[in-house]
Amino acid sequence: MKKNEKNSDPKKLVYTKKSGWDGITDKDLKSIMDFSEGYKSFLDEAKTEREAVRYIEEKAARHGYVNITKAKQGDKKLFINFDNVSCVLAEINDTNFSDGFLMVGAHIDTPRIDLKGYPLYEAEDMAYFKTHYYGGIKKYQWVTRALALHGVVVLENGTKIDVCIGEDDSDPVFTINDLLPHLAQDQMQKKAGVVIEGENLNILVGSIPYKFKYEKDAIKIAILDHLHTKYGFAEEDFVSSELQLVPAGKARDIGFDRSFVGAHGQDDRVCSYAAMEALFDAGKSKRNKIAMFFDKEEIGSKGNAGANSNILERAVNKIINLYGKGDYNTLLNTLADSKFLSADVNAGIDPEWAGTMEKLNSGKIGWGVCLTKFTGVRGKGNSNEAHAEFVAECRKVFNKDKVKWQTAELGKVDQGGGGTIAMFIAEYGMDVVDCGTPLLSMHAPFEVASKADIYHTYKAYKAFYKYL
Ligand code: MN
Ligand code: MN
Repeated sequence: MKKNEKNSDPKKLVYTKKSGWDGITDKDLKSIMDFSEGYKSFLDEAKTEREAVRYIEEKAARHGYVNITKAKQGDKKLFINFDNVSCVLAEINDTNFSDGFLMVGAHIDTPRIDLKGYPLYEAEDMAYFKTHYYGGIKKYQWVTRALALHGVVVLENGTKIDVCIGEDDSDPVFTINDLLPHLAQDQMQKKAGVVIEGENLNILVGSIPYKFKYEKDAIKIAILDHLHTKYGFAEEDFVSSELQLVPAGKARDIGFDRSFVGAHGQDDRVCSYAAMEALFDAGKSKRNKIAMFFDKEEIGSKGNAGANSNILERAVNKIINLYGKGDYNTLLNTLADSKFLSADVNAGIDPEWAGTMEKLNSGKIGWGVCLTKFTGVRGKGNSNEAHAEFVAECRKVFNKDKVKWQTAELGKVDQGGGGTIAMFIAEYGMDVVDCGTPLLSMHAPFEVASKADIYHTYKAYKAFYKYL
């Protein structure tokens, strides 16, 4: 409608958001529920960044993606592996690279508990692993629960030993103990941040002495003997390992109506899975497309597989090189002309903690994917703010494809805040906006997402790839 033109019904000017469950058909419900079945299997099989890279590579291979190290000119679907912890899927439709890429980027690392380099010790005739937590966790949430050990040990000769203990029903699990309430008078007076301190996050791993004979370090030696017999590594090999403790067990449906998924690490495997499936399903296009899966977001995106490195530039450079267009000018221009959805989760309004959110501008659980123009703390500090023009383009394609979407900031102004990879990607000059699923209990061992929001995150990324 033009300016000055009288609207016959001014009520139509009101921006009305709608729940993702409101007015849906049985067929819609089935689409939403079916999508989460695939998502849950991703959560179960890809609990670490390395497992996620493996999962993505295998699934992409089934969709015709070729590892770029084996690809030739003409291969349109490419997989790029960065150190087994980060990866890229690319679909090439314009081999002149005259335009930028449509990119969706998520992260596959999750908050968790990592082993230290020299972890094993004995105390009171029990054996423990010392740990150093990874990412922003509330440490008290990680005690007294079943934990599984996932990761890799690399021997001096380069041999890699994969470890996954605690996921099979017949496996043992591990745990961190807490003080009994009867004796917790002093502990209960402490502030929540120090009720359980970092150096208290020690993992119980055994108690039977070597050859059933109590002597110095006999339990530690029995554990080392077990690790060597079963996995083939010795104590010094922990130094070159990446062993992570994550909650044991599978993703579960929550609620009588099964409307939620509960699992560890949905930040940001929900957006990772949605981005991958959206790329597979987006269909024919003239545009070049990328789905990228970063490591190290939870600890500031540093390191050579984090978004705060030139990893995206290296990925695009590999692609344009394959097509003989590997000059710096083409690289810079195609990066600057690209459009990027920073695919990361947001906080959903939890009625128990509603005071931390401003209701008009926060994500409602079940009301669709969140479009977040800026993140940051205290006056948008340290964030990428998307340009209005790009936000308009995004909401146009979302509306065109009937995506349930909502605007969302991360909590009340001055309450706290956070950042995503958006600001690092924007350094290439491309348009970037944050767009992802609202969660409850973010960074907890059991995070909660609405199946409607999971599905509409996928729909949003697909609309972006299809129509932008
Ligand atoms: Mn995240
Ligand atoms: Mn996070």
